[in-house]
Amino acid sequence: MPKSLAIIGAGASGLLAAIVAARRGVKVRVFEKNSKIGKKILATGNGRCNITNQTIKTQNYHGLNPKFVNIAIDRFNTSTCRAFFEKLGIEMMEGQKGRLYPKSLHSSSVVNLLVYECESLGVEFFLDTLVESISTDANGFALHVEGKVYHSSSVLIATGGLAMPTLGASDSGYKFAKSFGHTITPTFASLVQLECDENLRDINGVKIQGNIEVLSDKRVVASAQGDILFTNYGLSGSAILDVSREVGKLLQNRDKVDINIDLLSEYSKEQLKNILFKRAKNSNGKTLSLWLDGFINPKLAKFLAKKIDIKNADNLNSKELARLVYILKNLKFKAISTRGFKSAEVTAGGVNTDEINPKTFESKLQSGLYFSGEVLDIDADCGGYNLHWAWASGYSVGMSV
Ligand SMILES: Cc1cc2nc3c(=O)[nH]c(=O)nc-3n(C[C@H](O)[C@H](O)[C@H](O)COP(=O)(O)OP(=O)(O)OC[C@H]3O[C@@H](n4cnc5c(N)ncnc54)[C@H](O)[C@@H]3O)c2cc1C
Repeated sequence: MPKSLAIIGAGASGLLAAIVAARRGVKVRVFEKNSKIGKKILATGNGRCNITNQTIKTQNYHGLNPKFVNIAIDRFNTSTCRAFFEKLGIEMMEGQKGRLYPKSLHSSSVVNLLVYECESLGVEFFLDTLVESISTDANGFALHVEGKVYHSSSVLIATGGLAMPTLGASDSGYKFAKSFGHTITPTFASLVQLECDENLRDINGVKIQGNIEVLSDKRVVASAQGDILFTNYGLSGSAILDVSREVGKLLQNRDKVDINIDLLSEYSKEQLKNILFKRAKNSNGKTLSLWLDGFINPKLAKFLAKKIDIKNADNLNSKELARLVYILKNLKFKAISTRGFKSAEVTAGGVNTDEINPKTFESKLQSGLYFSGEVLDIDADCGGYNLHWAWASGYSVGMSV
């Protein structure tokens, strides 16, 4: 009997595996519950699809055993990735921090060309098709789909994680995995916005470039630099997403999490003190918020003046100036939760990688059963690393099946 592969999920990982397996002569069927192929890919990188990164390292990956990624990212590295997509017709261009995008800057180009390649290779798609369960039979597997049964010699679970249910995310993959005896590392949202203990309505929409530190028990456990966006509910922006995994993990353990923002990271404490001392000579009866206005964002100026409860900028004494310096360098909030899976880009946790062969991505518990992409207990930093994981793990499956 010719080899056949049933792939559950027409996302990044499933599509890559489909192409590589079909090129090797495997008969491939892809089952997707959405009516569209690659719905999540279309949403990536703000519609531009940050396909990969110039530097892909183990350190960009997280999970109980991050080293699990090594063989896959070694075999399918940035060059392999570029060559793979070039063969499909996608040229790449570099953005900030080594991020690589399709030259068209349209995620739809990536989906269109992946689908074209799949169809040219005879991959069969079943859309609007929710796989309900998987069982084994004499020839391999039976997929149970809305009253019908599809047989195949092997199955790939490429169902993704829980992030953004509106794009198709669900817990299906974990349920399938458990039905074969796999364990699931607890999941939580990553690359996600944070909710704070304070209403930030007055500074909603203010975006700054700053430094952020995450503190637990007064110990700095994570830090990042970049965009910080204040919103009604709390904090967003690239720097916040960068530390959100650590925050999510701490909150999951019910630890208290403080967020410390340096609003003026371009100045040292000493430099800032000198600047404010100089400005203090030129207060001319201004309110504190007006005096700060022009130096920092006006809405932030008002917010800080209210927070430290100093109304007038005239006759600021050295204690008050020191308090100002402190708050500008240490604006503190308590993170009470993340915005959860509904807003997250990625799921941390998932199918325990100890139970998966890192070369082939085959289950150690059930031969012929494979896993790839976000459903596994691997998540990555922002910057093209998550999609790279989806491609690289899908590639390994396609080469092994
Ligand atoms: C808004 C957003 C932006 C992002 N931007 C980037 C970026 O620019 N760069 C980057 O590296 N990463 C980005 N990511 C993360 C990245 O998109 C994912 O990590 C990656 O797509 C995961 O691929 P996957 O194939 O494992 O899963 P998915 O792409 O989620 O695909 C899984 C598919 O399986 C289907 N499915 C699930 N259960 C069933 C079932 N029972 N039956 C049939 N079908 C099923 C789902 O509908 C889905 O289509 C972003 C994520 C989001 C949400």
